[in-house]
Amino acid sequence: MKVFGSSGTRGVANEELTPEFVLRVAKAAGTAWGADRVAVARDTRYTGRMLADAAASGLASTGTDVDRLGIIPTPGAQAYAEREEMPTIVITASHNPPQYNGVKLVGSDGVELAVADLETVEQTLLAEGFETAPWDRTGRVREIDGVRRAYVDELLAHADRERIADAELTVALDPGHGAGSLTSPAFFRALGCRVITVNGQADGHFPGRDPEPVPSNLADLGRLVRATDTDLGIAHDGDADRAIFFDESGEYVEGDAALAALAAAELEAGDTTVSAVNVSQRLVDVATDAGAELELTPIGSTNIITRIEELEANGQRVPVAGEGNGGIFFPEFRLARDGAYTAARFLELVAERPASELVEPYGGYANVRKNIHYESTADRDAMLDAAANHAHSSEAELNTRDGYRLDHGDAWVLARPSGTEPLVRIYAEARDEARAQTLADDMHEAMADAAAGN
Ligand code: MG
Repeated sequence: MKVFGSSGTRGVANEELTPEFVLRVAKAAGTAWGADRVAVARDTRYTGRMLADAAASGLASTGTDVDRLGIIPTPGAQAYAEREEMPTIVITASHNPPQYNGVKLVGSDGVELAVADLETVEQTLLAEGFETAPWDRTGRVREIDGVRRAYVDELLAHADRERIADAELTVALDPGHGAGSLTSPAFFRALGCRVITVNGQADGHFPGRDPEPVPSNLADLGRLVRATDTDLGIAHDGDADRAIFFDESGEYVEGDAALAALAAAELEAGDTTVSAVNVSQRLVDVATDAGAELELTPIGSTNIITRIEELEANGQRVPVAGEGNGGIFFPEFRLARDGAYTAARFLELVAERPASELVEPYGGYANVRKNIHYESTADRDAMLDAAANHAHSSEAELNTRDGYRLDHGDAWVLARPSGTEPLVRIYAEARDEARAQTLADDMHEAMADAAAGN
Protein backbone atom coordinates (compact mmCIF):
# COMPACT_ATOMS: atom_id res chain seq x y z
CA MET A 1 0.00 0.00 0.00
CA LYS A 2 1.36 3.41 -0.97
CA VAL A 3 -1.10 5.68 0.81
CA PHE A 4 -2.26 3.76 3.86
CA GLY A 5 0.51 2.56 6.13
CA SER A 6 0.01 0.35 9.16
CA SER A 7 -1.52 3.23 11.14
CA GLY A 8 -3.48 5.04 8.44
CA THR A 9 -2.20 8.24 6.92
CA ARG A 10 -0.43 10.76 9.12
CA GLY A 11 1.55 13.92 8.52
CA VAL A 12 2.02 17.57 9.45
CA ALA A 13 -1.35 19.20 8.95
CA ASN A 14 -1.69 21.58 6.00
CA GLU A 15 1.75 20.55 4.71
CA GLU A 16 1.77 16.77 4.23
CA LEU A 17 -1.81 16.18 5.31
CA THR A 18 -3.92 18.79 3.51
CA PRO A 19 -7.70 19.33 3.38
CA GLU A 20 -7.51 18.52 -0.35
CA PHE A 21 -5.98 15.13 0.44
CA VAL A 22 -8.53 14.34 3.17
CA LEU A 23 -11.31 15.35 0.77
CA ARG A 24 -10.00 12.87 -1.81
CA VAL A 25 -9.62 10.09 0.79
CA ALA A 26 -13.22 10.71 1.88
CA LYS A 27 -14.46 10.67 -1.73
CA ALA A 28 -12.61 7.39 -2.27
CA ALA A 29 -13.95 5.87 0.97
CA GLY A 30 -17.49 7.09 0.24
CA THR A 31 -17.28 5.54 -3.22
CA ALA A 32 -15.73 2.24 -2.07
CA TRP A 33 -18.10 1.84 0.88
CA GLY A 34 -21.26 2.73 -1.02
CA ALA A 35 -22.99 3.16 2.36
CA ASP A 36 -26.10 5.30 2.89
CA ARG A 37 -24.48 7.01 5.85
CA VAL A 38 -20.93 7.42 7.20
CA ALA A 39 -19.78 8.97 10.50
CA VAL A 40 -16.96 11.50 10.88
CA ALA A 41 -15.18 11.93 14.24
CA ARG A 42 -12.01 13.65 15.42
CA ASP A 43 -9.68 14.11 18.36
CA THR A 44 -8.87 17.52 19.90
CA ARG A 45 -6.19 18.63 17.44
CA TYR A 46 -6.38 22.27 16.35
CA THR A 47 -6.61 21.24 12.68
CA GLY A 48 -9.22 18.55 13.42
CA ARG A 49 -12.25 20.67 12.57
CA MET A 50 -10.77 21.84 9.27
CA LEU A 51 -9.95 18.29 8.19
CA ALA A 52 -13.22 16.78 9.48
CA ASP A 53 -15.06 19.42 7.38
CA ALA A 54 -13.09 18.25 4.33
CA ALA A 55 -13.96 14.61 5.11
CA ALA A 56 -17.66 15.44 5.49
CA SER A 57 -17.66 17.39 2.18
CA GLY A 58 -15.94 14.56 0.35
CA LEU A 59 -18.42 12.00 1.63
CA ALA A 60 -21.44 14.18 0.87
CA SER A 61 -20.22 14.72 -2.71
CA THR A 62 -20.45 10.96 -3.30
CA GLY A 63 -24.10 11.01 -2.20
CA THR A 64 -23.38 9.69 1.31
CA ASP A 65 -25.18 11.17 4.33
CA VAL A 66 -22.82 12.14 7.15
CA ASP A 67 -23.12 11.89 10.94
CA ARG A 68 -20.80 14.43 12.57
CA LEU A 69 -19.72 13.07 15.97
CA GLY A 70 -17.38 15.91 16.92
CA ILE A 71 -14.56 15.24 19.37
CA ILE A 72 -14.54 11.72 20.76
CA PRO A 73 -11.85 9.10 21.55
CA THR A 74 -11.17 6.80 18.59
CA PRO A 75 -12.61 3.82 20.55
CA GLY A 76 -15.78 5.90 21.14
CA ALA A 77 -16.07 6.47 17.39
CA GLN A 78 -15.56 2.72 16.89
CA ALA A 79 -18.34 2.02 19.40
CA TYR A 80 -20.64 4.32 17.41
CA ALA A 81 -19.66 2.63 14.13
CA GLU A 82 -20.51 -0.79 15.56
CA ARG A 83 -23.73 0.33 17.25
CA GLU A 84 -25.05 2.14 14.16
CA GLU A 85 -23.46 -0.32 11.70
CA MET A 86 -21.91 2.62 9.91
CA PRO A 87 -18.38 3.01 8.48
CA THR A 88 -16.52 5.89 10.12
CA ILE A 89 -13.69 8.28 9.26
CA VAL A 90 -11.66 9.39 12.29
CA ILE A 91 -9.44 12.46 11.98
CA THR A 92 -6.63 11.77 14.43
CA ALA A 93 -2.85 11.48 14.62
CA SER A 94 -3.08 9.39 17.81
CA HIS A 95 0.15 9.98 19.80
CA ASN A 96 2.00 12.16 17.25
CA PRO A 97 3.02 15.76 18.11
CA PRO A 98 0.46 18.61 17.95
CA GLN A 99 1.27 19.75 14.40
CA TYR A 100 0.35 16.32 13.01
CA ASN A 101 -3.00 14.96 11.98
CA GLY A 102 -4.20 11.86 10.21
CA VAL A 103 -7.04 9.78 8.84
CA LYS A 104 -8.17 6.43 10.19
CA LEU A 105 -10.86 4.34 8.49
CA VAL A 106 -13.18 2.15 10.55
CA GLY A 107 -15.60 -0.43 9.15
CA SER A 108 -19.28 -0.81 10.04
CA ASP A 109 -18.26 -3.52 12.56
CA GLY A 110 -16.30 -0.94 14.57
CA VAL A 111 -12.96 -2.49 13.59
CA GLU A 112 -10.16 -0.62 11.81
CA LEU A 113 -10.24 -1.42 8.12
CA ALA A 114 -8.24 -4.54 7.20
CA VAL A 115 -5.45 -4.29 4.65
CA ALA A 116 -7.58 -5.69 1.79
CA ASP A 117 -10.34 -3.10 2.39
CA LEU A 118 -7.80 -0.29 2.68
CA GLU A 119 -6.38 -1.37 -0.67
CA THR A 120 -9.83 -1.05 -2.27
CA VAL A 121 -10.11 2.53 -0.98
CA GLU A 122 -6.56 3.23 -2.08
CA GLN A 123 -7.17 1.96 -5.62
CA THR A 124 -10.24 4.20 -5.89
CA LEU A 125 -8.16 7.13 -4.63
CA LEU A 126 -5.24 6.57 -7.01
CA ALA A 127 -7.52 5.96 -10.01
CA GLU A 128 -9.71 8.93 -8.99
CA GLY A 129 -12.72 6.75 -9.69
CA PHE A 130 -14.94 8.83 -7.44
CA GLU A 131 -18.72 8.56 -7.36
CA THR A 132 -20.16 12.02 -7.99
CA ALA A 133 -23.79 12.60 -7.00
CA PRO A 134 -26.07 15.10 -8.84
CA TRP A 135 -26.64 18.24 -6.78
CA ASP A 136 -29.97 17.12 -5.33
CA ARG A 137 -28.58 13.70 -4.34
CA THR A 138 -25.51 14.93 -2.45
CA GLY A 139 -25.39 13.78 1.16
CA ARG A 140 -27.01 15.55 4.08
CA VAL A 141 -24.78 16.35 7.04
CA ARG A 142 -26.18 16.23 10.57
CA GLU A 143 -24.59 16.83 13.95
CA ILE A 144 -25.10 13.99 16.43
CA ASP A 145 -25.46 14.91 20.10
CA GLY A 146 -24.75 12.73 23.09
CA VAL A 147 -22.20 10.44 21.44
CA ARG A 148 -19.64 10.84 24.22
CA ARG A 149 -22.28 10.13 26.89
CA ALA A 150 -23.38 6.99 25.00
CA TYR A 151 -19.75 5.85 24.82
CA VAL A 152 -19.24 6.32 28.57
CA ASP A 153 -22.51 4.48 29.28
CA GLU A 154 -21.37 1.58 27.14
CA LEU A 155 -18.01 1.42 28.95
CA LEU A 156 -19.81 1.41 32.29
CA ALA A 157 -22.01 -1.47 31.20
CA HIS A 158 -18.88 -3.55 30.52
CA ALA A 159 -16.78 -2.72 33.60
CA ASP A 160 -17.05 -4.29 37.07
CA ARG A 161 -18.41 -1.12 38.65
CA GLU A 162 -19.21 -2.68 42.02
CA ARG A 163 -15.78 -4.17 42.53
CA ILE A 164 -14.06 -0.87 41.66
CA ALA A 165 -16.47 1.35 43.63
CA ASP A 166 -16.17 -0.83 46.77
CA ALA A 167 -12.41 -0.21 46.84
CA GLU A 168 -12.90 3.59 47.03
CA LEU A 169 -9.94 4.30 44.79
CA THR A 170 -8.38 7.62 43.89
CA VAL A 171 -7.27 8.02 40.27
CA ALA A 172 -4.87 10.66 38.97
CA LEU A 173 -5.70 11.11 35.30
CA ASP A 174 -3.62 12.75 32.57
CA PRO A 175 -5.61 12.68 29.33
CA GLY A 176 -2.98 14.98 27.84
CA HIS A 177 -5.50 17.53 26.48
CA GLY A 178 -6.69 14.82 24.09
CA ALA A 179 -10.11 13.36 23.33
CA GLY A 180 -10.10 11.39 26.59
CA SER A 181 -10.34 14.75 28.43
CA LEU A 182 -14.04 14.80 27.54
CA THR A 183 -14.92 11.22 28.53
CA SER A 184 -12.46 9.59 30.93
CA PRO A 185 -13.02 11.86 33.99
CA ALA A 186 -16.78 11.18 33.87
CA PHE A 187 -16.15 7.47 33.31
CA PHE A 188 -13.81 6.96 36.27
CA ARG A 189 -16.09 9.05 38.53
CA ALA A 190 -19.06 6.93 37.50
CA LEU A 191 -16.98 3.88 38.45
CA GLY A 192 -16.90 5.28 41.97
CA CYS A 193 -13.36 6.64 41.91
CA ARG A 194 -12.21 10.01 43.17
CA VAL A 195 -10.62 11.66 40.11
CA ILE A 196 -7.95 14.33 40.03
CA THR A 197 -6.63 15.50 36.69
CA VAL A 198 -3.61 17.14 35.11
CA ASN A 199 -3.62 18.39 31.48
CA GLY A 200 -7.33 17.73 31.73
CA GLN A 201 -8.82 20.39 29.46
CA ALA A 202 -9.37 19.51 25.80
CA ASP A 203 -6.90 21.73 23.95
CA GLY A 204 -5.62 21.12 20.42
CA HIS A 205 -2.42 23.04 21.11
CA PHE A 206 -1.48 20.52 23.83
CA PRO A 207 0.02 23.20 26.11
CA GLY A 208 0.85 20.86 29.01
CA ARG A 209 2.46 17.95 27.24
CA ASP A 210 2.82 16.22 23.88
CA PRO A 211 0.20 13.56 23.13
CA GLU A 212 2.52 10.53 23.37
CA PRO A 213 2.26 8.89 26.81
CA VAL A 214 5.96 8.17 27.32
CA PRO A 215 7.80 8.83 30.62
CA SER A 216 9.49 12.01 29.35
CA ASN A 217 6.02 13.54 28.76
CA LEU A 218 4.50 12.34 32.03
CA ALA A 219 6.62 13.96 34.75
CA ASP A 220 3.64 16.07 35.91
CA LEU A 221 1.49 12.99 36.38
CA GLY A 222 4.24 11.26 38.39
CA ARG A 223 4.52 14.35 40.63
CA LEU A 224 0.73 14.52 41.06
CA VAL A 225 0.60 10.88 42.15
CA ARG A 226 3.46 11.39 44.61
CA ALA A 227 1.90 14.56 46.05
CA THR A 228 -1.52 12.97 46.63
CA ASP A 229 -2.97 9.82 48.12
CA THR A 230 -3.53 8.23 44.73
CA ASP A 231 -4.03 4.53 43.97
CA LEU A 232 -3.36 4.68 40.24
CA GLY A 233 -2.05 7.22 37.73
CA ILE A 234 -3.53 6.88 34.23
CA ALA A 235 -2.32 8.61 31.05
CA HIS A 236 -3.82 8.50 27.57
CA ASP A 237 -2.50 9.40 24.14
CA GLY A 238 -4.24 12.03 21.96
CA ASP A 239 -7.13 9.81 20.86
CA ALA A 240 -7.31 7.82 24.11
CA ASP A 241 -6.98 4.33 22.69
CA ARG A 242 -3.96 3.74 24.93
CA ALA A 243 -3.52 3.72 28.71
CA ILE A 244 -0.23 3.98 30.58
CA PHE A 245 -0.05 3.64 34.37
CA PHE A 246 1.81 4.92 37.44
CA ASP A 247 1.66 2.89 40.64
CA GLU A 248 0.54 4.34 44.01
CA SER A 249 4.05 5.54 44.84
CA GLY A 250 4.34 7.49 41.56
CA GLU A 251 6.54 4.93 39.79
CA TYR A 252 6.01 4.64 36.03
CA VAL A 253 4.71 1.17 35.12
CA GLU A 254 6.28 -0.10 31.95
CA GLY A 255 3.64 -0.87 29.31
CA ASP A 256 4.94 -4.43 29.00
CA ALA A 257 4.49 -4.97 32.74
CA ALA A 258 0.90 -3.69 32.66
CA LEU A 259 0.13 -5.88 29.65
CA ALA A 260 1.61 -8.89 31.48
CA ALA A 261 -0.45 -8.20 34.64
CA LEU A 262 -3.66 -7.83 32.62
CA ALA A 263 -2.89 -10.95 30.58
CA ALA A 264 -2.06 -12.98 33.72
CA ALA A 265 -5.51 -12.14 35.10
CA GLU A 266 -7.23 -13.03 31.85
CA LEU A 267 -5.50 -16.03 30.25
CA GLU A 268 -6.57 -19.60 30.90
CA ALA A 269 -5.10 -22.87 29.65
CA GLY A 270 -5.91 -23.35 25.96
CA ASP A 271 -6.36 -19.61 25.27
CA THR A 272 -4.31 -17.74 22.72
CA THR A 273 -2.87 -14.25 23.05
CA VAL A 274 -1.42 -12.18 20.23
CA SER A 275 1.37 -9.62 20.22
CA ALA A 276 4.07 -8.30 17.86
CA VAL A 277 7.53 -9.82 17.34
CA ASN A 278 9.14 -7.34 19.73
CA VAL A 279 6.94 -8.62 22.59
CA SER A 280 8.47 -8.68 26.03
CA GLN A 281 9.65 -11.87 27.74
CA ARG A 282 7.10 -10.89 30.41
CA LEU A 283 4.19 -11.87 28.15
CA VAL A 284 6.05 -15.02 27.03
CA ASP A 285 6.38 -16.03 30.70
CA VAL A 286 2.74 -15.19 31.50
CA ALA A 287 1.46 -17.24 28.55
CA THR A 288 3.72 -20.18 29.45
CA ASP A 289 2.58 -20.13 33.08
CA ALA A 290 -1.08 -20.02 32.03
CA GLY A 291 -0.74 -22.83 29.50
CA ALA A 292 -1.78 -20.40 26.76
CA GLU A 293 -0.38 -19.96 23.25
CA LEU A 294 1.38 -16.74 22.26
CA GLU A 295 1.19 -15.79 18.57
CA LEU A 296 3.51 -13.13 17.22
CA THR A 297 2.74 -10.88 14.23
CA PRO A 298 4.73 -8.24 12.35
CA ILE A 299 4.80 -4.93 14.24
CA GLY A 300 1.66 -2.78 13.74
CA SER A 301 -1.83 -2.99 15.20
CA THR A 302 -3.45 -3.91 11.85
CA ASN A 303 -1.42 -7.14 11.84
CA ILE A 304 -2.51 -7.98 15.39
CA ILE A 305 -6.18 -7.33 14.53
CA THR A 306 -5.98 -9.51 11.41
CA ARG A 307 -4.40 -12.39 13.36
CA ILE A 308 -7.03 -12.18 16.14
CA GLU A 309 -9.80 -12.34 13.52
CA GLU A 310 -8.19 -15.44 11.98
CA LEU A 311 -7.81 -17.18 15.34
CA GLU A 312 -11.37 -16.39 16.43
CA ALA A 313 -12.68 -17.65 13.08
CA ASN A 314 -10.88 -20.91 13.95
CA GLY A 315 -12.71 -21.11 17.27
CA GLN A 316 -9.76 -19.98 19.41
CA ARG A 317 -10.48 -17.83 22.48
CA VAL A 318 -8.37 -14.66 22.45
CA PRO A 319 -9.33 -12.80 25.64
CA VAL A 320 -6.45 -10.33 25.60
CA ALA A 321 -3.81 -9.14 23.10
CA GLY A 322 -1.71 -6.10 22.35
CA GLU A 323 1.61 -4.35 22.62
CA GLY A 324 3.74 -2.87 25.37
CA ASN A 325 2.91 0.71 24.32
CA GLY A 326 -0.37 0.72 26.28
CA GLY A 327 -2.43 -0.37 23.26
CA ILE A 328 -4.30 -3.42 24.52
CA PHE A 329 -7.18 -5.41 23.02
CA PHE A 330 -9.91 -7.20 24.92
CA PRO A 331 -11.48 -8.75 21.80
CA GLU A 332 -14.51 -10.13 23.67
CA PHE A 333 -15.43 -6.51 24.43
CA ARG A 334 -14.45 -5.07 21.04
CA LEU A 335 -11.66 -5.63 18.54
CA ALA A 336 -10.33 -2.15 19.24
CA ARG A 337 -7.81 -0.64 21.62
CA ASP A 338 -9.57 1.41 24.26
CA GLY A 339 -7.58 3.37 26.85
CA ALA A 340 -10.51 3.93 29.23
CA TYR A 341 -11.64 0.30 29.08
CA THR A 342 -8.06 -0.94 29.56
CA ALA A 343 -7.73 1.33 32.60
CA ALA A 344 -11.02 0.00 34.03
CA ARG A 345 -9.74 -3.58 33.69
CA PHE A 346 -6.56 -2.51 35.49
CA LEU A 347 -8.61 -0.79 38.22
CA GLU A 348 -10.49 -4.06 38.76
CA LEU A 349 -7.10 -5.57 39.68
CA VAL A 350 -6.01 -2.54 41.74
CA ALA A 351 -9.22 -2.94 43.75
CA GLU A 352 -7.72 -6.20 45.08
CA ARG A 353 -4.12 -5.17 45.66
CA PRO A 354 -1.87 -2.13 45.19
CA ALA A 355 -0.62 -1.45 41.66
CA SER A 356 3.00 -1.85 42.76
CA GLU A 357 2.29 -5.42 43.98
CA LEU A 358 0.34 -6.18 40.84
CA VAL A 359 3.24 -5.43 38.52
CA GLU A 360 6.03 -6.54 40.87
CA PRO A 361 6.36 -10.02 39.23
CA TYR A 362 7.01 -8.28 35.91
CA GLY A 363 9.85 -6.06 37.04
CA GLY A 364 13.51 -6.92 36.79
CA TYR A 365 13.68 -7.83 33.12
CA ALA A 366 16.76 -6.51 31.34
CA ASN A 367 16.54 -5.09 27.82
CA VAL A 368 19.47 -4.48 25.51
CA ARG A 369 19.23 -2.63 22.20
CA LYS A 370 21.86 -2.24 19.52
CA ASN A 371 21.80 -0.73 16.04
CA ILE A 372 23.96 -1.60 13.07
CA HIS A 373 24.21 0.98 10.32
CA TYR A 374 24.46 -0.16 6.70
CA GLU A 375 25.69 1.72 3.62
CA SER A 376 23.93 -0.17 0.85
CA THR A 377 21.05 -2.58 0.37
CA ALA A 378 23.68 -5.23 -0.50
CA ASP A 379 25.22 -4.67 2.94
CA ARG A 380 21.80 -4.88 4.54
CA ASP A 381 20.92 -8.09 2.71
CA ALA A 382 24.26 -9.67 3.67
CA MET A 383 23.60 -8.73 7.30
CA LEU A 384 20.11 -10.20 7.22
CA ASP A 385 21.42 -13.40 5.59
CA ALA A 386 23.95 -13.61 8.42
CA ALA A 387 21.16 -13.10 10.95
CA ALA A 388 19.25 -15.94 9.29
CA ASN A 389 22.31 -18.23 9.40
CA HIS A 390 22.92 -17.29 13.02
CA ALA A 391 19.27 -18.07 13.78
CA HIS A 392 19.30 -21.42 11.98
CA SER A 393 22.48 -22.56 13.73
CA SER A 394 20.90 -21.80 17.10
CA GLU A 395 18.83 -24.13 19.28
CA ALA A 396 16.27 -21.37 19.75
CA GLU A 397 12.80 -21.31 18.23
CA LEU A 398 12.83 -19.03 15.18
CA ASN A 399 10.10 -16.58 14.16
CA THR A 400 10.57 -14.82 10.79
CA ARG A 401 7.31 -12.83 10.58
CA ASP A 402 9.15 -9.52 10.85
CA GLY A 403 12.94 -9.86 10.98
CA TYR A 404 14.50 -12.77 12.88
CA ARG A 405 13.35 -13.45 16.42
CA LEU A 406 15.07 -16.24 18.37
CA ASP A 407 13.14 -17.47 21.39
CA HIS A 408 15.30 -19.32 23.91
CA GLY A 409 12.48 -20.00 26.34
CA ASP A 410 13.91 -17.78 29.08
CA ALA A 411 15.12 -14.99 26.78
CA TRP A 412 14.96 -13.74 23.18
CA VAL A 413 16.79 -11.69 20.58
CA LEU A 414 15.38 -9.98 17.47
CA ALA A 415 17.14 -8.48 14.44
CA ARG A 416 14.89 -6.31 12.31
CA PRO A 417 15.59 -3.63 9.67
CA SER A 418 14.29 -0.18 10.58
CA GLY A 419 11.45 1.02 8.36
CA THR A 420 12.73 4.59 8.27
CA GLU A 421 16.52 4.58 8.70
CA PRO A 422 19.46 2.62 7.22
CA LEU A 423 19.76 0.54 10.39
CA VAL A 424 19.17 -3.00 11.48
CA ARG A 425 17.93 -2.94 15.06
CA ILE A 426 18.82 -5.67 17.52
CA TYR A 427 16.68 -6.18 20.61
CA ALA A 428 17.36 -8.69 23.40
CA GLU A 429 15.60 -9.35 26.69
CA ALA A 430 16.21 -11.69 29.61
CA ARG A 431 15.74 -11.83 33.36
CA ASP A 432 19.50 -11.52 33.59
CA GLU A 433 21.30 -8.46 32.16
CA ALA A 434 24.41 -10.44 31.21
CA ARG A 435 22.35 -12.98 29.29
CA ALA A 436 20.51 -10.28 27.32
CA GLN A 437 23.84 -8.61 26.55
CA THR A 438 25.38 -11.88 25.33
CA LEU A 439 22.43 -12.62 23.04
CA ALA A 440 22.56 -9.11 21.53
CA ASP A 441 26.36 -9.26 21.18
CA ASP A 442 26.27 -12.65 19.44
CA MET A 443 23.71 -11.41 16.93
CA HIS A 444 25.64 -8.18 16.45
CA GLU A 445 28.89 -10.04 15.86
CA ALA A 446 27.37 -12.39 13.28
CA MET A 447 25.90 -9.45 11.36
CA ALA A 448 28.90 -7.11 11.64
CA ASP A 449 31.18 -9.82 10.22
CA ALA A 450 28.86 -10.20 7.23
CA ALA A 451 28.80 -6.46 6.55
CA ALA A 452 32.62 -6.33 6.78
CA GLY A 453 32.99 -9.38 4.52
CA ASN A 454 30.67 -8.01 1.86
MG1 MG B 1 -3.85 6.34 19.72
